[in-house]
Amino acid sequence: MAVRIRKDGTIICAAKSGSEDGDCYLDDGVHYRLYELGILHSNNDEDDTWYFQTGKEKNRKIIISDKWPEAISDGLSLPCSICGIIPMFDYHVDDDFWSRIVPGHIRRDVICLPCLDGLAHNVQLDVAEHIEFVHFTGIGKTVVLIPERTYYYEKK
Ligand SMILES: [Zn+2]
Repeated sequence: MAVRIRKDGTIICAAKSGSEDGDCYLDDGVHYRLYELGILHSNNDEDDTWYFQTGKEKNRKIIISDKWPEAISDGLSLPCSICGIIPMFDYHVDDDFWSRIVPGHIRRDVICLPCLDGLAHNVQLDVAEHIEFVHFTGIGKTVVLIPERTYYYEKK
């Protein structure tokens, strides 16, 4: 998607907003690349606003007073369909990856990250390339963890 950066620093979806004097327009190619690099992040709000953040900045705190954001986990209680364990972490992967590796009969169920890793490994895919973010649901809060790097080691 393309976004506009307003003079006040607000970054908003271009399709959901009108052009204003002084806007800086980022086309979808630039926007997607900044998102891929982990520099531009979605606020997951209705207006589709975004913010810049590099790994060196502090964790941003967002107080939710009414509507919980749709894509953010608010607690985990259902067991994994494969291993039966209640996961400690929720996560987001791209839809295409999900439908390629998760069998149709459990695609709407909970699958823990270790089991998802196993499903991907079985078909020579790498879950590390598809995790968008991981949620840790703590007490009264959800911490969004964005993957920074993946280390690989030789199997012994
Ligand atoms: Zn599992």
